[in-house]
Amino acid sequence: MAGSKSWNRRAFLRHSSLGLLAGALASPTRLVAAASRPVRLQGEFTPLRRNVGIYTERGGTIGWLLSDDGVVIVDSQFADTAENLADGLRDRGSENIDVLVNTHHHRDHTAGNGVLAPHARSIVAHARVPELQRAYEADEPQTYADTTFDREWSIAIGDETVRARHYVPAHTGADATVFFEEANVVHMGDLMFNRLYPFIDGPSGASVRGWIETLEAVMADHDAETLYVFGHASERFGVTGSREELGVQRDFLSAVLEAAEAGVRDGATADEVAEETVLEGFPDHEGPPERLATALRVAYDDASGAQ
Ligand SMILES: [Zn+2]
Repeated sequence: MAGSKSWNRRAFLRHSSLGLLAGALASPTRLVAAASRPVRLQGEFTPLRRNVGIYTERGGTIGWLLSDDGVVIVDSQFADTAENLADGLRDRGSENIDVLVNTHHHRDHTAGNGVLAPHARSIVAHARVPELQRAYEADEPQTYADTTFDREWSIAIGDETVRARHYVPAHTGADATVFFEEANVVHMGDLMFNRLYPFIDGPSGASVRGWIETLEAVMADHDAETLYVFGHASERFGVTGSREELGVQRDFLSAVLEAAEAGVRDGATADEVAEETVLEGFPDHEGPPERLATALRVAYDDASGAQ
């Protein structure tokens, strides 16, 4: 009944706040720490396999290899979160970075480059990344890669080999995966938005068809044991997973492309396809609906041969 439900809810809230207060009183050290210095939000270092793990705070998931033989960082988020990452690296005795790899040019993956650059021997990215940073991310100071590659780049760090690879235009015109071979971990950058409507950057040369092709090629290049790191993810599904997740994203993008192809066949305009398409069969996907419209527009260009 409504009356008893609302009473229960009030009672629950009251007990919750009492619980929180009791928790705070029972942790005097936390209160002292909070009073003596400003509370600083920091991200989290999560080990995955061997010496490879992730750092999550705000922006695209950062990948790391931290070993006695060297340090590799994948992506740099924003300036403030990169400061926190750098602090965490110092605490772990891994202050000097051998290589910082950027998976693509977007600011939530590259804006921290300037903070990490003084500690990094080299910054590596696909050949088009600096040009795309200049063209589309120029509102703030930028730090660019000093080493670039077209198809593949690799480095050996102790007994680990790290391999960056570009397939074809997908999320942007210049995406790379970063494979830690011995750990069998692949950082996907924004080639994966796990159960989120993916952002797709048409002006920088993205392609829905290319993105599908890329995910197929990545799955073919790696095995069933490979652990994947995702640039972004819904909270429920998380920023790491298996090839199954890649398959779900491939299927989602295939549905987007098929809807656009059907629209082109029926003589619909890009606006009509973007505004009228409802994708069914992906109940777990969340995020801003306009991202779906953007993806449909890029897919429309793919389908009509405009790219
Ligand atoms: Zn991105």
